[in-house]
Amino acid sequence: MRNIVLFGPPGAGKGTQSEFLVNHYGLVHLSTGDVFRFNIKNGTELGKLAQSYMDQGKLVPDEVTISMLKEEVEKSAEAKGFIFDGFPRTTSQAEALDSFLNERGDCIEAMVALEVPENELTTRLLARAATSGRADDADPEVIQNRIDIYNAETAPVAEFYKRAGKYKAINGLGTIKDITERLVSAIDV
Ligand code: ADP
Repeated sequence: MRNIVLFGPPGAGKGTQSEFLVNHYGLVHLSTGDVFRFNIKNGTELGKLAQSYMDQGKLVPDEVTISMLKEEVEKSAEAKGFIFDGFPRTTSQAEALDSFLNERGDCIEAMVALEVPENELTTRLLARAATSGRADDADPEVIQNRIDIYNAETAPVAEFYKRAGKYKAINGLGTIKDITERLVSAIDV
């Protein structure tokens, strides 16, 4: 299995780049944000629970997120591997992912991390609000909350993969194609 974590702050371009990477490598895209939004749209219990956190720009609790992630992985029994987008977002999630994959005889091959300055993120998210229809993109306070939580809880996840020698920093500024090329050369080394 070939498992890649696509990492970066809100608005870094993970969703955009995932689309290309899944086609290029024939992997399954697993975006925790997309799964939560799907559940919200369908009015499931999970969706109701997740929405209260997402609307405020907070993280959905680890327990809920981790068990959902495992279920999603198990749904794709035939997968050649996964692009994990938006997961892990806390060190506990990273540890849970590692032990879950290890139990299956799998592991994470690399974390590719899109680096984008904070002022650019806010600009991108506010612009995206016009087309995404996402309430969490439209409110500058919620955006700031997401960025603050990223810095406090999610950025440390990079250390976990740095220690394992699996972290690859990617400049997230430039055209979509430039960034795609950087990602592919980092993954293919
Ligand atoms: P973005 O990367 O633009 O912030 P996502 O679609 O990845 O957007 O996530 C949207 C929201 O979904 C997050 O702000 C959070 O509330 C929730 N979420 C997504 N992934 C996780 C996760 N791994 N752990 C906890 N909450 C998550």
